[in-house]
Amino acid sequence: MFADRATISIRSGKGGDGHVSFRRELYVPNGGPDGGDGGRGGDVIFEVDEGLNTLQDYRHRRKYAAKDGEPGGKKRCHGKDADDIVLKVPEGTVIKEAESGKVIADMSGDNRRQVILKGGKGGLGNQHFATATMQIPKYAQPGQPAKELMVKLELKVIADVGLVGFPNVGKSTLLSRVTNAQPKIANYHFTTLNPNLGVVDLEGANGFVIADIPGLIEGASEGIGLGHEFLRHIERTKMMIHVVDAAGSEGRDPVDDIHKINAELHAYNAEIASRPQVIAANKIDLIYDDGESENPVERLKKEFEPQGIKVFPISGVTGAGIKELLYYVSTEIEKLDVAPIIFEPEYFPDEELINLDLPYTVEKEDDMYIVEGPKIEKMLGYTNLDSEKGFAFFQKFLKDTGILEQLEELGIEEGDTVKMYGLQFDYYK
Ligand code: GDP
Ligand code: MG
Repeated sequence: MFADRATISIRSGKGGDGHVSFRRELYVPNGGPDGGDGGRGGDVIFEVDEGLNTLQDYRHRRKYAAKDGEPGGKKRCHGKDADDIVLKVPEGTVIKEAESGKVIADMSGDNRRQVILKGGKGGLGNQHFATATMQIPKYAQPGQPAKELMVKLELKVIADVGLVGFPNVGKSTLLSRVTNAQPKIANYHFTTLNPNLGVVDLEGANGFVIADIPGLIEGASEGIGLGHEFLRHIERTKMMIHVVDAAGSEGRDPVDDIHKINAELHAYNAEIASRPQVIAANKIDLIYDDGESENPVERLKKEFEPQGIKVFPISGVTGAGIKELLYYVSTEIEKLDVAPIIFEPEYFPDEELINLDLPYTVEKEDDMYIVEGPKIEKMLGYTNLDSEKGFAFFQKFLKDTGILEQLEELGIEEGDTVKMYGLQFDYYK
């Protein structure tokens, strides 16, 4: 089982409810309110862990929930804040909303740690609600609700260069020869199922990160569906080293091999297929001149160099030709000068989760307009009205849900009071 994809459910903690209580002291018959505030619910945080290179852990356990904040107590006792939970992922993990596939966060580059679901704030205890006219407030704020979300994790490794090619052409051998990576090397078709990354250091030139993109053809040819599964790792590479068995040691034709892989790449994503390539004509130590057939390296050059794809004869075993290949790749990457590919967020859990279809009511009671119900409670829980963005969102919410219209139908006028749970405000157009 390979593990560069997983779907999990995450849940932040609910804020603890505020407490309603009154001071009870000897000789103080009517003590004031002393209900404490609830504690904060735990956040769900994702963090890059350099030591990880698969999402394997997330295929075993699929539910992750932070704890709720504790409720407030009497004597102004503050409920305990819950701990956050931190989910460690390999660099390059893209977090998506499971249903829509929209990107929530890309754990790449500078983004090492991100809060994905915020825990609910604790509710205020009744100690905060005493006013001149209301000496015995029986109201305390509920804690903000928990948030729950199904997310899809996808590992898309970040490397400057991707190694592509049929199985057994020598990709892993090349990677291990030119970098510190230690991939598995073997003479069968299912060797590398996780992407391997390595750093190429070059004297007098810029080094680069190289990734062995496994499984390209295994699935397609064996009909087990791995074909395109691994291609997502190539999405972020700037250039490809197309490794081919120039000696045809498995009985295939090298020119044919290149065409087949390129067709496969094209079927996956035309833009990726059009990125710069260089051909590493590998296993030249196995090429013998039989005096009849044309040298396969010459055939490769004739076929692909007119298209601007340079061919480098190499041997991953003897090391022949590898230096030339690496220096060429280093200069090419420099010429490209493209920024690393980072996926922009398109889904913002704090805002999206409010659009749920929940009931609410709008009523008139004496001089006040009361708006309440689960939808309102949820919205208030998610929105920070003290921030400008939060307040703008709140106004848009009132309009979009039709609450403003309903208030007007009930005859609301400028300056009238609208009440939503602990919140009161004056209505202005
Ligand atoms: P991959 O599937 O593309 O990663 O291929 P591997 O690196 O696992 O290599 C497959 C087989 O080819 C192994 O037995 C390697 O030892 C062998 N091999 C790789 N490169 C060379 C080479 O340049 N010359 C020779 N003779 N054998 C090679
Ligand atoms: Mg391999």
